[in-house]
Amino acid sequence: MDDSSPQTIFLKDYTPSNFLIDTVSLDVNLHPTATRVHSRLEIRPNPDAATRSTALVLDGEDLELDEVRLDGRKLDDSDFTRTDSTLTIPGVPDGPFELEITTYCNPETNKALSGLYRSRNIFCTQCEAQGFRRITYFLDRPDVLAIYTTRLQADKEMAPVLLANGNLIESGKNSSSGTHFAVWEDPHPKPGYLFAMVGGNLVCVADTFTTLSGREVDLHIYVEPGEEDRCAWAMESLKRSMKWDEERFGREYDLDVFMIVAVSDFNMGAMENKGLNVFNDKLILARPETATDADYAAIEAVIAHEYFHNWTGNRVTCRDWFQLCLKEGLTVYRDQEFTSDLRSRAVERISDVRMLKTHQFPEDGGPLAHPVRPQSYIEINNFYTATVYEKGAELCRMIETMVGREGFRSAMDLYFVRHDGDAATVEDFISCIAEATQTDLDQFMTWYSQAGTPEVVASLSYNAKERIAELSLSQVTPATPGQVKKRPLHMPIKLGLLGPNGDDLPLRLENGDDIPDGLIHLRATEQTYRFTNVSSPPVPSLLRGFSAPVKLTVNLSETDLEFLMAKDSDLFNRWQAGQNYALRVLTSATAGFGNGEEPAPASSFIGALAATLRDETLEPAYRAEVLKLPSESDIAREIGQNINPDAIHSAREWLRAELSRALHRELEELYETNSVPGPYSPEAEDAGKRALRNAALALLAALGDESGINRVREHFDAAANMTDKITALGVLTHLEGSARETVFDDFYEQWKDDHLVIDKWFALQAISSLEDAPSRVVMLRKHPLFSLKAPNKVRALIGAFANMNPTGFNRADGAGYELVADVVLEIDKFNPQISARLLGTFKSWRMLEPERKAKAKSALEHISSNNNLSRDLFEIVTKTLD
Ligand SMILES: [Zn+2]
Repeated sequence: MDDSSPQTIFLKDYTPSNFLIDTVSLDVNLHPTATRVHSRLEIRPNPDAATRSTALVLDGEDLELDEVRLDGRKLDDSDFTRTDSTLTIPGVPDGPFELEITTYCNPETNKALSGLYRSRNIFCTQCEAQGFRRITYFLDRPDVLAIYTTRLQADKEMAPVLLANGNLIESGKNSSSGTHFAVWEDPHPKPGYLFAMVGGNLVCVADTFTTLSGREVDLHIYVEPGEEDRCAWAMESLKRSMKWDEERFGREYDLDVFMIVAVSDFNMGAMENKGLNVFNDKLILARPETATDADYAAIEAVIAHEYFHNWTGNRVTCRDWFQLCLKEGLTVYRDQEFTSDLRSRAVERISDVRMLKTHQFPEDGGPLAHPVRPQSYIEINNFYTATVYEKGAELCRMIETMVGREGFRSAMDLYFVRHDGDAATVEDFISCIAEATQTDLDQFMTWYSQAGTPEVVASLSYNAKERIAELSLSQVTPATPGQVKKRPLHMPIKLGLLGPNGDDLPLRLENGDDIPDGLIHLRATEQTYRFTNVSSPPVPSLLRGFSAPVKLTVNLSETDLEFLMAKDSDLFNRWQAGQNYALRVLTSATAGFGNGEEPAPASSFIGALAATLRDETLEPAYRAEVLKLPSESDIAREIGQNINPDAIHSAREWLRAELSRALHRELEELYETNSVPGPYSPEAEDAGKRALRNAALALLAALGDESGINRVREHFDAAANMTDKITALGVLTHLEGSARETVFDDFYEQWKDDHLVIDKWFALQAISSLEDAPSRVVMLRKHPLFSLKAPNKVRALIGAFANMNPTGFNRADGAGYELVADVVLEIDKFNPQISARLLGTFKSWRMLEPERKAKAKSALEHISSNNNLSRDLFEIVTKTLD
């Protein structure tokens, strides 16, 4: 933190830039410690500016300024002023002018990984959100769009490959110096955050794609030498993405080449820079022996996500950072749809909702709650959140539910026609939908400005004499920090009423209106629907497909839940019924364990679960989801207050053991019949079988008895792919004994030279529910393969511990909190984005029982008492404690 305290930036204060930049010519001489950047900018006053000014204020950070020229004239030091973050030239012409700036930056010491930095000797950039200002002085805001030409020069041996956005227009050797150059031109106007350049010793895996209109596009994936055989799936995923975006949204790629570069050190997953995506290498590199089914699926989804940004984000970008959901929510929605179309729609929906509830619901219910479009921020990097991404995607999905798939497509077509080349707002997007589909979205807009997860309470009553089923719905959104008063939201609620044999009854309202698609619109605080001609008491299936991101409470009996688990035609709700049933059993068992009581037997739940598992009409991937009990954090969220993570853990382990005992024969059979012979394929069908088989294996070992452990050992030894290996490690990490130590040692010996696979070894030790997990994590911090400077390592060890080890992180003595707090402070000295993100794991601390709450609070206070915090960490710790 600077001596001045961090400033809050407000959406309401947005004003257009006083100046625009039409073209940017960069001449970059890559050097590890002193990269020279010469930029030539064609600038003019912005005709739409609110006020006319002749003072040009450019953003810049950590730059060494060499020279400034205005229309060719070198400026004296007295012609401009500088601060830590700006360069101001007070008297620029009131018409167009040319500005040349020469600066130096130091990629080697840049451990914030924002701007230009080096990852394992590869020069690469990350400019979103505000990294371009660490490369050169600039109007670093998303509504300043320019055409870029980039000339890169470097020692040929150090960086034989030189890449930037756009198309390559020239390259060659400089005769004497041992250096070479490449000139790249991007014809599409873009903001600075989409700029990228890369230089290094990389090999190219090449393919081509022929677009809808018959243009051939080169596809290049660049990796470190030796990794070429790990790119096939990424390439396949890219081609699928390009094809899908043409078919589903009519979007074609627009440059001659599409490039992806994989680097090891990256703050995020990947970045959609125009024509030159930069990826965290764990989301590119895969072979069956090194990557799990989940890795393959993540690669496919993230490649798609970044590719789809070419239209939703790049061709149409955001006016300001408050509009981040405009590109992220929409693009997450698009990548979820891509996966749903390519794989199983029901399984994808389950996994998306699980993600939303695990990450976004706690955010919405805690001190960091913010609307999908925030009203203010201190550090924009703190707003790359589950709310902006995942809840943002849910808003797009609700719109699609309301206007239909075709309506949504026609609205998107209008959006692209109207805003191509623009920096747009949420209002621009919503007007296109409203106009193209003649839909009133005025009330719906509240979703973008109101934080918090709405709570919907439903009750169904039946009048046999009148043959009427009456459904009452009410909604309330709890207060969130800074937003006490909430307005009712417009929610699409998909529903069905199940008759005695499980069929969906026709939905006819008392006024004669039919609801053929089962979609009703909840707009008021309370609404009642009376369905006529219902001949027996129906069972309601509400919020089908999770049609709105809300917490639903409904008066269902255990018999109703069992009925829905067996009969609901909506596969998502069938799964949800099983989860709800399990949560009832688990919350009551948790209360029991908290009071030292034996839980009541769970035989009817187990029977219902067994029936679903036996249903061969359900695909294996789906049944695997059914077999997964709610997580410990799901149970904590359900209980909501005075949380004792140990009691939750005991309850969940108890139910797993009950399932293991009661379903032993069924689980063994699932294990035997779902083995996948032949060569490994990452496609959904085989992956689904492995998921079901591995879920059965894990449950079979839940008793911790010798035969269960031996089966896991054998599974590990026989495993021919990483999915099966990891499953075995994931089971054994929780079981004390020699089997655990042996497999972890074997795994380490086999994979210690692979920087990606070894991250799994770190993570699986960090999530252990055994007593010694925190001390093991402390010990692993000192492991020679671990580094706090590498975000993937931090996420693997410390992130996994804080996010996925509820009993270890929340240890009663506070050791887990202290451990994470120490790491946060250490990392904050050089990488504020990662430290702030890691501290986000404390977001649910107020839900804990009093003793743990006090320990968590003191760890947070220890951080906040430090007066050298980054702006990023300052914002998170202040809000978390507030
Ligand atoms: Zn994105």
